Amino acid sequence: MNLLNPQNNNNKWKDKYLAQLDQQDSLVKETRDREALLCRAIIRLTLITKGFNQTLDPHLTRIHAAVKSGLNSAKLKAELEQITQAVIRLEDSALNTAAAQADLLFDFLIRQSDTETQEQTYISLRKQYESGQLKSIEELFQALLDSQDSQDNDRFDVTETELSEGNYIPTDMVSQQLLLLLENFDIPSAFEKQAEFLKERLQKPLTATSFPSLLDEYVSLLSHIKKHFQSEQKNIEDFLSELTEQLNDLDDRVVGAHKVTQQATINRNNLDQFVSMQMQNLQNSSINATTLEPLKQLINTRIEAISRQLERHRQEENQQNLQAQRQLDELANKIQRMEKESTILKSRLTLAQNKAIRDPLTGLPNRLAYDERLETELSRRKRYKTPLCLAIWDIDYFKRINDTLGHKAGDKILKIIAQLLSTNCRDSDFISRFGGEEFTMLLPETSPESALILTEKLRKLVEQSRFNSGDKSFSITLSCGISEFQENDQPEAVFERADQALYQAKNNGRNQCAVN
Ligand code: GH3
Ligand code: MG
Ligand code: MG
Repeated sequence: MNLLNPQNNNNKWKDKYLAQLDQQDSLVKETRDREALLCRAIIRLTLITKGFNQTLDPHLTRIHAAVKSGLNSAKLKAELEQITQAVIRLEDSALNTAAAQADLLFDFLIRQSDTETQEQTYISLRKQYESGQLKSIEELFQALLDSQDSQDNDRFDVTETELSEGNYIPTDMVSQQLLLLLENFDIPSAFEKQAEFLKERLQKPLTATSFPSLLDEYVSLLSHIKKHFQSEQKNIEDFLSELTEQLNDLDDRVVGAHKVTQQATINRNNLDQFVSMQMQNLQNSSINATTLEPLKQLINTRIEAISRQLERHRQEENQQNLQAQRQLDELANKIQRMEKESTILKSRLTLAQNKAIRDPLTGLPNRLAYDERLETELSRRKRYKTPLCLAIWDIDYFKRINDTLGHKAGDKILKIIAQLLSTNCRDSDFISRFGGEEFTMLLPETSPESALILTEKLRKLVEQSRFNSGDKSFSITLSCGISEFQENDQPEAVFERADQALYQAKNNGRNQCAVN
């Protein structure tokens, strides 16, 4: 049909050709636009990245110049190849060190600073990092985030207008730096997923429009991490203050249970010093700590050290207590031994005293005791003006008894008579064996008449007693001489008078009492 109408056919080919020409024109225009855009981007990139790195700078200058001759220039291709190699070398060496990363970061930040204050802040932080005040890239980043709080975050908020005005963000370099920082940063597990997602996006090519939003997310992630660290720090502080309280309580108990001894005080001080040193260490650690888990481990280690020290202290104290107990036991034993010895000594002394003042045969006080007692009775008599009498007893014909029955039997009779006289007189009367078969009696508050009645009673008692020796039974009699102590009497004078009375009683037939 078309062949039959050549006019129509000619028109169709023409339309088709024209349409193809239009298409070709638009393709060329599009390519040129793209080329122009790329050239512009490359020029902007070289401008922004210039000054970041001395190695790369000459390459960037040459690329800047070459790109003006068009994208297809051989010179540009060669320069691009060279800069690619240079960047690879940089990545292999310098970029892998934290210092180099920080260097690049500071170059970037300082270049990007909007205000002088901002720039000064970065310069000061750079100095802190280079002098070692900020020890790690994490600390540096924390400091950067802190400084960012007081600054305007708008520098990350790049708008299309700014881009078109020529305020370029070197997205590739920045992405690379952000990526490196993220990889070197100690990301808390809660943010790992988010960080991984950001890393993936940073590794992909970025467009001018996606870059600001990515930066926003990056900054937001870091802000969250910062907040997380701050809350961790708060947790750590709470944990530490609780721990401090517990340790103080523990400390109080240790003090309370402590015995105050000199050695114990020294130990106590050592322990205090140790505990406060550990606490100081904990405090220092808490200041530098950014995450709770490692700090908890550290605290556990310290607490274990404190517990060990406490245990050692407890053992030492136990040992000291044991030693003190042993010493006390030894002391108690010593005291017991001394008490025993003292009792023995006391009884020996009593015995010696008794020996000194008592007659060993009859057990009655002896002449020495009589002299002592006489003094007491004389002063009492003087004080109370009461009468005092002396009675001297003598066994009748005692020599005969000895001779007949033997000395031993005589001793026995002496004992019996001593007992009869002492047990039958008043408690206040004082009887003593004066010597041989003679006894004396001091009769306080007793007149001569009363003394006579009392001695008569005793005389009769002995007279009526029966004595036995072998198969013989016999009686024994006593004679007694009495005399009263007179005012200003010398003891010997009274004794003399009583002795005379005794003599009288003997002379009068014995077995009788006489007063003189
Ligand atoms: P008189 O009635 O005159 O007192 O006669 P007498 O035999 O008691 O007199 P004399 O004083 O001569 O004798 C006292 C005797 O007492 C002499 C002595 O052997 C005896 N005699 C003295 N002391 C002890 C003694 O401790 N034990 C014994 N068994 N006899 C003693
Ligand atoms: Mg005699
Ligand atoms: Mg006699």
